[in-house]
Amino acid sequence: MKLLPADTYVEGVRAGDRAVLARAITLVESEHPRHAALAQEVLTRLLPHTGRGQRVGISGVPGVGKSTFIDALGMHLVHGEHKVAVLAIDPSSSISGGSILGDKTRMARLSREANAYIRPSPSSGTLGGVARKTRETLLLCEAAGFDVVLVETVGVGQSETVVSELVDFYLVLMLAGAGDELQGIKRGILEVADLLAINKADGDNAQRAERARAEYRAALHLMRPGAEPVVTTCSALEGTGIAKLWAAVESQLAQRAASGELTRRRKAQQVGWMWAMVHDGLRAALHAHPEVSALVPVLERDVREGQVTPTSAALRVLEAFLPRSPA
Ligand code: GDP
Repeated sequence: MKLLPADTYVEGVRAGDRAVLARAITLVESEHPRHAALAQEVLTRLLPHTGRGQRVGISGVPGVGKSTFIDALGMHLVHGEHKVAVLAIDPSSSISGGSILGDKTRMARLSREANAYIRPSPSSGTLGGVARKTRETLLLCEAAGFDVVLVETVGVGQSETVVSELVDFYLVLMLAGAGDELQGIKRGILEVADLLAINKADGDNAQRAERARAEYRAALHLMRPGAEPVVTTCSALEGTGIAKLWAAVESQLAQRAASGELTRRRKAQQVGWMWAMVHDGLRAALHAHPEVSALVPVLERDVREGQVTPTSAALRVLEAFLPRSPA
């Protein structure tokens, strides 16, 4: 990768230059230690120009209609004079090297819009690494003038937790009639959702979608009394329900901004990001430590065979890692 001077990144991003934005994102995504210092300098200088975006997470199982929905919502926003960035966190790319989100032509209309910027998921690294890159990409997009940032993920595994930690508002797309297990819905996702939208509420499916909406409403009333998320229906294909849905998102965000909750949440997220980085760094250092690496196979065997207790094995790992362990 050919690097640019820090000024060029900073000025280009501030000017909303898409080519420079793309190169700045590639820089923050780089795993190369030599790129990290420059990336952090660029981000630090851009930081005062971040924070003005509405950060919205969107998840749902494959086939629920995420691409179609983001295309429709993005077009609605662009027509409303917004500048929209779409980022993705694809857990499959960190696990299998493949990609659930990246393999097809997606968001055909939005991708041609001058006021939209679509960036696929970082394709390598751990989920923690992917999350770090997406957080920093989000800041770059805000500095470039995007005032709505949509972060898409497949609602499986831990990616929804990661997404909910970097957005202001979390929207979950569902289907009527598919069992909850089929939709990969775990309690976790319903606990962090701010809005549930039953998609494909069109044609023969419209009535079922309406019934599903009533059922989810009742269930969420029991699960989260006093903090029920909005439950709505939409058809991403026909574009119905999208304007109403976004109006609900904006009204909720305005309420939270007025109450100070939005600022509190972002501050807590920043501190959370710092600790996530510390924990990731510690874990990487632990596994790269030569003495620890030598010790681990022996200790694992002894623990498996019942010759050493897990606790004393853990202490020996920590002593090897931290020679003067306070433990
Ligand atoms: P993703 O895997 O979640 O990104 O889902 P896609 O956006 O690729 O949609 C999967 C399929 O569902 C496609 O064939 C879409 O045309 C279809 N689809 C998406 N939204 C709707 C909708 O609102 N109504 C109907 N009837 N079909 C839809």
